[in-house]
Amino acid sequence: MIKTNWHTHTSRCGHAVGTDEEYVLAAIQGGLKTLGFSDHAAYEQSRRTDRMDLAQFPDYMASISALKEKYKDQITLYLGTEIEYYPYEMDLLKEYRQKLDYCILGQHSLDLDDDRSYNATSPDLLNIYTDRLNECCSLDLCDYICHPDVILWSYPRMDGSVREAAERIAAISKKYNMPLELNTGSGVHHGMRQYEDGMRYAYPTRIFFEEFAKADCPIIIGLDVHDPKLFLNDTDLNRAMSVIEGLDCHILYDYDLVSAAKERKKNI
Ligand SMILES: [Zn+2]
Ligand SMILES: [Zn+2]
Repeated sequence: MIKTNWHTHTSRCGHAVGTDEEYVLAAIQGGLKTLGFSDHAAYEQSRRTDRMDLAQFPDYMASISALKEKYKDQITLYLGTEIEYYPYEMDLLKEYRQKLDYCILGQHSLDLDDDRSYNATSPDLLNIYTDRLNECCSLDLCDYICHPDVILWSYPRMDGSVREAAERIAAISKKYNMPLELNTGSGVHHGMRQYEDGMRYAYPTRIFFEEFAKADCPIIIGLDVHDPKLFLNDTDLNRAMSVIEGLDCHILYDYDLVSAAKERKKNI
């Protein structure tokens, strides 16, 4: 198991289980030394199965802060969030930026309350997706890009547009020195799925990481945990690692995300 994980959810998002303390205890038991909480950021409209409500945010901050103190001799905790980038939600995005240790970008939707990242089947949506990532990075609103290949969840085949999207994301990563995540969450947890051109995990995807390796992009492994017991099991991590087997990926095992975030915040 890895020693550092920045991608951890809580039950507030509506699709994770366990108490905050159970996540901390399982992480300690699993041998982690640094744990960042990054539950799905709230926006004005409630969406109870996708993200916390705005009203839950103070409790999220208070709870993780209390655990940080309580377990400080056993594990270093940080408080972050997983945002989506919506240009019209700038006030909230800046508020999270200021209040939290770090923000990671998981663009699960292309616009507030749509599902197009999960339903994308055409190249034009790959372009909108990479435009969203680019703009968020250019504004210093995030510190790494979660599951950069989430847009391939439903994408039917690994065609030229997929490689072009990977090249664009690699270029974004290089331009902004932005780490990209090898995600060990839902994409591998549910096993391989059948697509038009064969079986694969929804993500991570080999083509993306071929381009990331070629460009020498910084990669961070993110467990994307929605259940404390997953800290105690390497199955999903091993599945994700099998996708990049043989690739010369530049994996950062002890990246100091919080210091990097402090630098990026200066530009807000
Ligand atoms: Zn989630
Ligand atoms: Zn996540």
